[in-house]
Amino acid sequence: TTVLGIETSCDETAAAVVRRAGPGAPGEILSNVVYSQIDDHAAYGGVVPEIAARAHVEALDSIIARALAEAGTTFGDIDAVAVTAGPGLIGGLMVGVMTAKAICAAKSLPLVAVNHLEGHALTPRLTDGIGFPYLLLLVSGGHTQIVLVRGLGDYARWGTTIDDALGEAFDKTAKLLALPYPGGPAVEREAAKGDPKRFALPRPMKGEDRLDFSFSGLKTAVRREATALAPLTDRDVADLCASFQAAVTDTLADRVERALARYRAEVADGPADFVVAGGVAANAAIRAMLAETCERHGFTLHAPPLNLCSDNAVMIAWAGLEHFDGGETSGLDFAPRSRWPLDADAEALIGGGK
Ligand code: ATP
Ligand code: MG
Ligand code: FE
Repeated sequence: TTVLGIETSCDETAAAVVRRAGPGAPGEILSNVVYSQIDDHAAYGGVVPEIAARAHVEALDSIIARALAEAGTTFGDIDAVAVTAGPGLIGGLMVGVMTAKAICAAKSLPLVAVNHLEGHALTPRLTDGIGFPYLLLLVSGGHTQIVLVRGLGDYARWGTTIDDALGEAFDKTAKLLALPYPGGPAVEREAAKGDPKRFALPRPMKGEDRLDFSFSGLKTAVRREATALAPLTDRDVADLCASFQAAVTDTLADRVERALARYRAEVADGPADFVVAGGVAANAAIRAMLAETCERHGFTLHAPPLNLCSDNAVMIAWAGLEHFDGGETSGLDFAPRSRWPLDADAEALIGGGK
């Protein structure tokens, strides 16, 4: 099975071709083309939806052509087209979904509408070949969730952020310290030079018996310290970043400990898998904490390579391939959805939402 994947839900225009010889065989990445719009948005300190949608329109055709060429394929070799249908910015989603539908209609190919979060969730099945079930920590610019992945299409969201996503907290903190966008890498770089103990920042929700997150109070605490110190020296900025990163890592550690304990109580004993995905998974301090916590509890930590952790189309092609091999495709009338939670229960309860 060979699948073309298309991703346009945020600020990456991406296309990729993934192949698998048959169910059970390992997946193979034939191409992975990502055009990041970071430069288009940097001046605004964040993603501007209208600029993103226009940039997708301009770039997508040539990105798809490159993905096919680099894979050494033509449309004749493709068995299905997988496209991110949500959640994300609606303008970008429409560009991707309409393009995928046009290809499918013109080439008589089946369409598989993929949930972007499912793409992140299933990536380690491609990279590490892991089986179900496993626990997923998704930490990106738009999402912060702990999800039990029971099987293909079978997800239970155990925890989510009640305000900012973790990547968003990094980005906003960077902005208020006048560091460049995207904020995550900039904050991590500064943190490496700073003193994590200089500022006593809050650990939101630590110790609470639930698996949700809250990061907006932490960001506000950083702002308060920064305002009190202004004008900031380089040392102040580094120390604030180090203290922020320490607070974040500490908070995550508390949630993850709880999630692992719940997995032990409700799912399974013995060897188990833990997956971290999303752009924030690039953070070395967070990775080190996860490695240590997982090891202590007998979980194997799977962190996809960085280029497959942040947004890409390989993960969309792969998720589409798994569904396609399972006999599932979508109708050409499938509409993109800016809100599309992974677990159907959450949808029924809250009518959408991240
Ligand atoms: P989503 O996947 O939720 O739709 P997104 O496209 O913003 O949103 P990703 O591309 O997966 O998400 O990740 C981008 C986020 O990761 C940004 O918020 C960025 O600041 C953050 N990030 C990247 N590198 C690091 C790092 N080293 N430390 C912390 N955060 C980081
Ligand atoms: Mg992105
Ligand atoms: Fe993403």
